[in-house]
Amino acid sequence: MAWNVVIVGGGFGGASAARELERLLPKQSARLMLVNDVNFLLYTPFLPEAAAGTLEPRHVVTPLRDILRRTYLRLGGVHAHDPGARTVTLRTHEGEDEEVRYDQLLLAVGSVSRSLPVPGLDQHAIGFKSLADAIWLRNHVIETLEQANATEDPARREQLLTYVFVGGGYSGLEALAELQDFAADAMDRYPRARLHGMRWILVEATDRVLPEVPLDLSEYALRQLRGRGIEVRLGTRIEEAAADSTRLSTGERVPTRTIVWTAGVAPHPSLGSLSLPLDARGKVRVDEYLRVEGLSGVWAIGDCAAVPDPNKDGRAPCPPTAQHAVRQGPVVAHNIACGLGVETSPRRFGYRARAAFVNLGRYKAVGKLGPASFHGFPAWWLARSYHMSQIPGTARKIRAVADWTVGLPFSRDLAELGSIGHPRPLRAEVYARGGTHRPL
Ligand SMILES: Cc1cc2nc3c(=O)[nH]c(=O)nc-3n(C[C@H](O)[C@H](O)[C@H](O)COP(=O)(O)OP(=O)(O)OC[C@H]3O[C@@H](n4cnc5c(N)ncnc54)[C@H](O)[C@@H]3O)c2cc1C
Repeated sequence: MAWNVVIVGGGFGGASAARELERLLPKQSARLMLVNDVNFLLYTPFLPEAAAGTLEPRHVVTPLRDILRRTYLRLGGVHAHDPGARTVTLRTHEGEDEEVRYDQLLLAVGSVSRSLPVPGLDQHAIGFKSLADAIWLRNHVIETLEQANATEDPARREQLLTYVFVGGGYSGLEALAELQDFAADAMDRYPRARLHGMRWILVEATDRVLPEVPLDLSEYALRQLRGRGIEVRLGTRIEEAAADSTRLSTGERVPTRTIVWTAGVAPHPSLGSLSLPLDARGKVRVDEYLRVEGLSGVWAIGDCAAVPDPNKDGRAPCPPTAQHAVRQGPVVAHNIACGLGVETSPRRFGYRARAAFVNLGRYKAVGKLGPASFHGFPAWWLARSYHMSQIPGTARKIRAVADWTVGLPFSRDLAELGSIGHPRPLRAEVYARGGTHRPL
C-alpha cells in the first residue's frame, strides 16, 4: 500500500519540500500530490523588476511541472480539512469539490497583503504581492502618464502624477524604487507631463525604513531615495484613502490616483477554514520540527506557519521570507519521511538568517552578509548574483539575463498592456460606446 502525501501550496516552501520528498520517498511506497491555485512558482524578489519592465512577467515565474518530476500537480484551492477523517477538500478551477485523503499533510499556503481598517483602503489601494498586482501597477503608471500628458486640468494632472507607497519594508521600498526609476526614464516621452513633474511619496509609520537591515544601511537607503527626490514621511500613517487623494496622520491631504499598500503581510485567509490551531496573528502553530500542534502527520512551513526562529531562541516566529521557506522545505520533507519510517531522527529547523539585500534600482542596493555590510553597486551585484543562483530552472536564469542585457541599450518599453487577459467582446455596441477602457 502506498502512502498519500499531500502538499497544499506550491510556492517557495511547498515546491522545495516536494522536490526533497521526491528524492527521499521510494516511488512505489508514496504518492505525492501538490495542490496549488496556479501552475507556477512566482519568484517574488523579481516582482519589482517585472513591474518596472526590466524583466518579462513570464521570466519571473517557473512552471511547477518544470520543477517537479513525479509529484501529481492539481490546480485548485483547498478550503476544508477534516483532521479526524484525514481528508482535505479542494475546489477545482471548474468549481467542483473533491475530497483528498492523506496520510501526511503539509500546509505551505503563504501569505497575502495585510489590510488594516483604514477607510477607503480596500477600494482605492492596491497591494504588491502577486504578478497580477505588479503588472496592473505597471500598466496603471503608464496610463497615468498618458492621461497627465493629455489633460488640460492642472489639479487632475497633479493627482495623476503623484504616487503614494505605504510601508517602508523591503518589498515596498524595492517596488517604489524600481517603478520611480521606470517612470523617471519614461517621462522623457511625455513632454507635457514632464513640465509638471512627478511626486513619489513613501509613508512609513515607524521612525525608519528597512527594519530588515542594520540602521546605517537603512539610513543609506533613505539618503538614496531622498537624493532622487522621493519624499519619505517617517512616523506617518495614512488615515483615509479616496479615489483622488489620501489623508495622512499629519492632517495633510495628498492628491493622488495611486496608493500602493505594502505595509506587511498576513497568513493566507484559507487557513481560517482548515481546522488548524492558529496563533494570535492567524499563523499555524508548529514546533521546531514543523509539526502542527496537536495533529499527528500534519505539518506547516513558510509564511503561513509560526515556526520558532532559531535566531531569537525560538521566542518569536521566523520572519516571512523566501529564505526561510526554502530551508524549511527540506527539513519538513525529512521529518515526513521519518513519520513514514523511511528516515530516522527527525530534524529541528535551525537556520539562522545571515543575509538580507534590498534593491534600490539604478544599480544600487543595500545588504548584509554575515557581519559584513554592503551598499551601492557591490551590494546590487551581490544581490543579483544571489537571486540568479536561486531562481529555479536554467531556462529562467538565461531568460532573465537576456532581458537585462537586451534592455541595456534601449529606452523603456511604454506599451500599456492592461487589456491582456481581457479579450475584447464580440458585441459591436461596446465599440460604439467608445471602447472598453476602464477609467482611472
Ligand atoms: C515583492 C516581494 C519581494 C520579496 N522579496 C523577497 C526577497 O528578496 N527575499 C526573501 O527571502 N523573501 C522575499 N519575499 C517574501 C517571499 O516571497 C515569501 O516569504 C515567500 O513567498 C513565502 O513562501 P511560501 O512558500 O510560504 O508562500 P508562497 O511562496 O506565497 O506560496 C504559497 C502558494 O500557496 C498557494 N495557496 C494559497 N492558499 C492556497 C489554498 N488554499 N489552496 C491551494 N493553494 C494555495 C498560493 O497561491 C501560492 O502559490 C518577497 C515578497 C514580495 C511580495
